[in-house]
Amino acid sequence: MKLAKRVAALTPSSTLAITAKAKELKAQGLDVIGLGAGEPDFNTPVNILEAAKKSMDEGQTKYTPSAGLPGLRSAVADKLERDQGLTYRTNEIFIGTGAKHVLYTLFQAILDEGDEVLIPTPYWVSYPEQVKLAMGTPVYIEGKEENQFKITPEQIKAAVNSRTKAIILNSPSNPTGMIYSPEELKAIGETCLEHGLLVVSDEIYEKLVYHGNKHVSIAQLSPELKKQTIIINGVSKSHSMTGWRIGYAAGEESIIKAMTNLASHSTSNPTTTAQFAAIEAYNGPQDAVEEMRGAFESRLDGIYDSLLEIPGLACVKPQGAFYLFPNVSETAKLAGYRDVDEFAEGLLENALVAVVPGSGFGAPENIRLSYATSDAALTEAVKRMKEYVEARM
Ligand code: PLP
Repeated sequence: MKLAKRVAALTPSSTLAITAKAKELKAQGLDVIGLGAGEPDFNTPVNILEAAKKSMDEGQTKYTPSAGLPGLRSAVADKLERDQGLTYRTNEIFIGTGAKHVLYTLFQAILDEGDEVLIPTPYWVSYPEQVKLAMGTPVYIEGKEENQFKITPEQIKAAVNSRTKAIILNSPSNPTGMIYSPEELKAIGETCLEHGLLVVSDEIYEKLVYHGNKHVSIAQLSPELKKQTIIINGVSKSHSMTGWRIGYAAGEESIIKAMTNLASHSTSNPTTTAQFAAIEAYNGPQDAVEEMRGAFESRLDGIYDSLLEIPGLACVKPQGAFYLFPNVSETAKLAGYRDVDEFAEGLLENALVAVVPGSGFGAPENIRLSYATSDAALTEAVKRMKEYVEARM
């Protein structure tokens, strides 16, 4: 069967691919340590599970409005007000099937063929593919490692033309863990306003910030920027609810309405039970969010210095999310590999450590390690990597 061109051209998610390969090796009985995962390793907090069960027992198992339950849209509006001082009406909020599908729906709603979207590198693997699926054109801006992988207003200016429609910002970033400061965001925001760019602000790692670093949304900086921004967020990373598939968009009513129309012909609505769970996630106690954040912070502290002992490796210290994104181009060479992709493959097959090659994120000299796993597994993984490289030098 001949597939649609736009689908045949898709690159499969490199993060899911490495996780699948690691699982395969594990199934063969091998003791693989997976650092590829993009999800918290904690259980969803009990109060959220209880709320979900209660909603089912009460018979809340039918379709909901396509933009989500009114109670969840208000819970998100309250959250945005409480956490970020941002006021949104409920008709400026769209609930979707995870932030990933919310982004997909957004690009379908705003892009025409040939519209350009600025994507800073290193980027989350799905951005370019989602833009291409909406017939848009990704235009990459290099977040230089010496600038902590962040882009500058000058780079935006150089990349903008009459087809440029939007820019994606992801802070804290997957894969780098870097956070844009309010000053940096202000400068970027001014440039976006100047050129009429819609800012797609992916804030899914908002709650995972460390060592006194703070997350600020670009929408908080001025009413003009709020108007020009669409915030993307959800419960996956903050409340360890990856499998529930609930995310949201907050922004201009006309965009939210278009996304709702699209959802009415695709998903109809996100799973009802998951929406009830998400209401509790936002309205209930937030202690578990802070506990998980604290656990990630101490894991980062526990692993960072020992990682630097791997020969040839250099790593900017992350400020948020739960990833390390070391440059291992030198390490790969020392270990006798042609490039980092091959090195990552070698690590998995021989040292039984699964990491994600940076090529899938637009940064071929780096690898991504997730520290959403136990301290013991992290220590063992770094030990194996170090010994493997040293043995091949
Ligand atoms: N955005 C970024 C940067 C992510 O890393 C992820 C998940 O890995 C998502 C969005 C999607 O999250 P979800 O669809 O689970 O809400």
